[in-house]
Amino acid sequence: MRLPEWRSRAACRGRLDLDFIDPADEQVDRCRAICAECPVRELCLADALASGEAWGIWGGLDADERAKVAEQDGHPAPAVRPAHGTNARYAKHRCRCKACTAAHAEYERERRARLRARRRGTAPRAYVLVEPVRCGRTWAGAGQYVIALPGLPVPAEAEPDEPLAAVA
Ligand code: SF4
Ligand SMILES: [Zn+2]
Repeated sequence: MRLPEWRSRAACRGRLDLDFIDPADEQVDRCRAICAECPVRELCLADALASGEAWGIWGGLDADERAKVAEQDGHPAPAVRPAHGTNARYAKHRCRCKACTAAHAEYERERRARLRARRRGTAPRAYVLVEPVRCGRTWAGAGQYVIALPGLPVPAEAEPDEPLAAVA
């Protein structure tokens, strides 16, 4: 992925001592002070507004401030950040707080257990859906294979089928 040209002129470039993406409370003012003197502040803020950036300090504004500007000026609303204590926040948003780190460790443990089970030929059973089922924000369609993950209930609409050993 190519970074926009303005990033090379960013005042925050190389500031590894400050986390502009998920700053701790005591870092926010220092981040803002650097943004205040940044030569590409407007471009930075414009990019964050255009992409509905949910995280961090951009152009000196935090996510709540950008949400207000976005509403006033017709930019997309900032994306919803996943809560702490989730693998999504660890993996996608690089949060390394205790809760997210623990969630990631748990996710990895389960993923490795599934891999081992698959290698032993005891893969979790797969099901063929006879009706569409909502999975979070999306739908799994009728005829689609789903695998019941540990701790998740088997959908009531599902019919057991042979394990899908060949599925990677
Ligand atoms: S405005 Fe702030 S976050 Fe944006 S490039 Fe400049 S220093 Fe970095
Ligand atoms: Zn976290």
